[in-house]
Amino acid sequence: MGERIYDVGIIGGGIVGLATAMALVKAGVHSIVVLEAEDKLAAHQTGNNSGVIHSGLYYKPGSLKALNCVAGREALYRFCAEQGIAHQACGKLVVATRPDELAALDALEKKGVANGLKKLRRLGASELKEYEPHVAGIAGLWVGETGIVDYTKVCDAYAAIIRAGGGEIRLNFRVKGFARDGGELRLSSDGDEARCRSLVNCAGLQSDRVARLCGVKPGLQIIPFRGEYYELVPGRHDLVRNLIYPVPDPNFPFLGVHFTRMIGGGVEAGPNAVLAFKRHGYRKTSFSLRDAAQFALYPGFWAMGLKFWKMGLGEFYRSFSKGAFVRALQRLVPEIQPDDLVPGGAGVRAQALEANGFLVDDFRIREAERMVHVLNAPSPAATASISIGESIAAIALKNFALERQQKEPS
Ligand SMILES: Cc1cc2nc3c(=O)[nH]c(=O)nc-3n(C[C@H](O)[C@H](O)[C@H](O)COP(=O)(O)OP(=O)(O)OC[C@H]3O[C@@H](n4cnc5c(N)ncnc54)[C@H](O)[C@@H]3O)c2cc1C
Repeated sequence: MGERIYDVGIIGGGIVGLATAMALVKAGVHSIVVLEAEDKLAAHQTGNNSGVIHSGLYYKPGSLKALNCVAGREALYRFCAEQGIAHQACGKLVVATRPDELAALDALEKKGVANGLKKLRRLGASELKEYEPHVAGIAGLWVGETGIVDYTKVCDAYAAIIRAGGGEIRLNFRVKGFARDGGELRLSSDGDEARCRSLVNCAGLQSDRVARLCGVKPGLQIIPFRGEYYELVPGRHDLVRNLIYPVPDPNFPFLGVHFTRMIGGGVEAGPNAVLAFKRHGYRKTSFSLRDAAQFALYPGFWAMGLKFWKMGLGEFYRSFSKGAFVRALQRLVPEIQPDDLVPGGAGVRAQALEANGFLVDDFRIREAERMVHVLNAPSPAATASISIGESIAAIALKNFALERQQKEPS
C-alpha cells in the first residue's frame, strides 16, 4: 500500500478536494491520491448542504467568492448537462418584508449587477406573487441564474473522472500523521501510509488542524456552525414553487432561513446557523470536549461573541423552539403553520475565524513548501468547485513542477 509515491496527495474527499483532483487529472497529472477519512465521499459539508447552485449575488465584486462562484456556476451547469446529472436553473426570489431591509436589497441588486448577473429583476409587492403565489413582502429581487442540484451526485461524477484518469481515491484514510522525508511527504493513518511529493489540504471542518499537523500555522481557527432543516410535509409543497430567501443581514456570513425545493423532490426550510460544540456535530446534543475547548480558548471566539451574542442567542432559541423557526419562515410565507413542517437533516459549516474575531468572508488558500492549504471554503464553494479546483490545480502546477502526460493512461 505504502510503496507508491504519488505526485500529489489530496486530503479530503469533499467537493473541493475532488474538484482539485479532477482539474489535475484533466491537466494531465495522473499520479494523484485523494485521501478521505470517512467510508464515503461528500460525507460532511458537501453531502449535507442545501443543494443550491448560487448565482453570485451576495459576494463582494472582485472577491474570490464572486469570481469563482460566477465562473463555477456556469461550469457546473455545463458539467451537469454533459454528464446527465439532474439539475435545474429554476431561479430564486429574495424577499424584503420590512422597510429597513430595502437598503440591503438595493445593495444586493448592485452587487449582482457588478458580478455580471443578467437575469435580475427588481419586483414590487404585487409582482412577487407572479413568481411565488404564497409569498408576502414589500419588494423583492428575482434571480434567474440560481439553480438546484444534488452535490453528492456531482461528486460521484468528479470521482469517476478522477479514477478514469488514473487517480486513486482511498476511503477510511484519516490523515493523522505527517512527516517530511527528503523530497517526500509521508501521510499516515491508522496502520496505513501514503507517500507523495506534494499535497493539497481540502479537509473542510478539519482544515486548520491538518495545516498545523503539516507544520503550517493557519492564522485562523475553524468554528463549526450547525445548520438545521425542516421539511415541508408533502401536502404543503405547493406553498413553494422554487427558492424563497430573506434579505440577509450584511454583517453576518449566513443567508437566513429560506425555502429550497430539492432536485430529488421535496422542499426544505432552513438552515439556521447555531454554534456547534462538535465539528461533526449533527445533533443538538453533539458535544466534543476537544472541539469546544479549542474554540473556548481561542481569543477570536470571544471577540466574535461580543459582536454577535444577540444573533447567536436568537439562533440557539430558534434551534430549540419550532415556534420561533416557524415565525421566521412566516415572515416569507405567512400561511405556513407548525404542522406543515417536520424535522429534516442538518449540516455543519466550517467557518474560519481570525484571532481578532474577524469572520473570514472570502475563500482562503495558503501556499507552503510543496503544499497548498485550503483554509476557508464556505458557501458557495460547492457551486464554485470546478473553478476553485482549477485555481488550486494551477497553483500546484506552478509550484510543484508536476509531470504532465498528454495522453490519458489506459
Ligand atoms: C448546511 C450547509 C448548507 C450549504 N448550502 C450550500 C449551497 O446550497 N450551495 C453551495 O454552493 N454551498 C453550500 N454550502 C457550502 C458547501 O457545502 C461547502 O462550501 C463545500 O461543501 C465545502 O467543500 P469541502 O470539500 O471544502 O468540505 P467537505 O465537504 O466538508 O469535505 C472535507 C472532507 O475532508 C475530510 N477530512 C477531514 N479531515 C480529514 C483527514 N484528517 N484525513 C482525511 N480526510 C479528512 C472530511 O471527512 C470531508 O469529507 C453549504 C454548507 C452547509 C454546511
